[in-house]
Amino acid sequence: MRWSGSKLPLLRACGYSARPDVEVPADVQSEPARRGVARHLAFEHWLSGGVTSDPDGCDWAAPPSVVRETFLRSVFDLGLGGTVEVEIPIVLDVETGRSRRSPHKRTHDDPEAQPTEIRLIADALSSSVVVDWKTGRHRAEAVSQLDGLVLAARASRGILAYVDDYGAITHTVERTYDEIDHAATLAWMRGILERERTAQPIPGPHCRDLFCPLLGLCPATAPALVAAGVPPVSLSPETPEEARALFLAREVARGWYTRADDALRQYVDQRGEVPLGDGRAYGVNTSTRETITLTPEAIAAVDIPADALRVSTSKSAINAALGAKRGRELLAQLGELGCLTVTTTRRYEAK
Ligand code: SF4
Repeated sequence: MRWSGSKLPLLRACGYSARPDVEVPADVQSEPARRGVARHLAFEHWLSGGVTSDPDGCDWAAPPSVVRETFLRSVFDLGLGGTVEVEIPIVLDVETGRSRRSPHKRTHDDPEAQPTEIRLIADALSSSVVVDWKTGRHRAEAVSQLDGLVLAARASRGILAYVDDYGAITHTVERTYDEIDHAATLAWMRGILERERTAQPIPGPHCRDLFCPLLGLCPATAPALVAAGVPPVSLSPETPEEARALFLAREVARGWYTRADDALRQYVDQRGEVPLGDGRAYGVNTSTRETITLTPEAIAAVDIPADALRVSTSKSAINAALGAKRGRELLAQLGELGCLTVTTTRRYEAK
């Protein structure tokens, strides 16, 4: 079984990538996704009492156990005496509906693993509550993963707890479950299992929204790329030639994307919204933003609190006003006053 908890929402929408006879390229994570996963792992490690650093070098030093317990209790809202465990792998046999705990986080490390089992990790677990830490914004589809986790743990309450970059919970999504909910979850999971060998691609917004690794490769979406003139290339390049072919194919796809984007906007402008088949519609969303530009006269005329003021300038503005030599002197002074911030950005581009 080629399932993981995080893939459940995608497999629920389209089970084609679970077919054992379909070759799935290795997951290529976007930079924001990679950071999100790394922060998630750092946070889990922190809760387990470890010290770790996330990709930005931000240290998550192990807090005293009493702090961890207070934190967990604030999320769980447990009565005194409840035990909370973190990072517990639970294995659910989708065929029988039985679950078991396992010391192994990965299926291939588990000598007892069965082909009808899915392995889910409870980020935090008490006798009746499961918490799944999340980073980024909430997506309704994440609930399918929570449903599977709560079923595996035979819990009655599930919490998606969204954690910010500083380890604080920004918001939670909670659900309660009874036996009927568990039966419904098991039913759709069994449906995926029953169709595992025969599932056909079901294209839709989930292909991109849920990061299907077969987007542009499966029989339903590959023709769209061919129609767009994108040549067949490997998404797991191993040689400079394969990487160059991927680069060129990406340029073709980008050109097509721009044209498709223009065509869709034109359609919306002329005929209105496009229903996407999942309750959403592609259309125009208008928002306005007010920008405040302060002049010296305005600062003198109104009482703006000092901590609401952001004063900035730029090297080019200073050089334009003072000339290059005096501009450099002023920049040196500003550097000594701690007013210069150096930011290094990485851009992948053709040079
Ligand atoms: S790209 Fe879409 S249709 Fe194709 S396998 Fe993935 S989810 Fe299914």
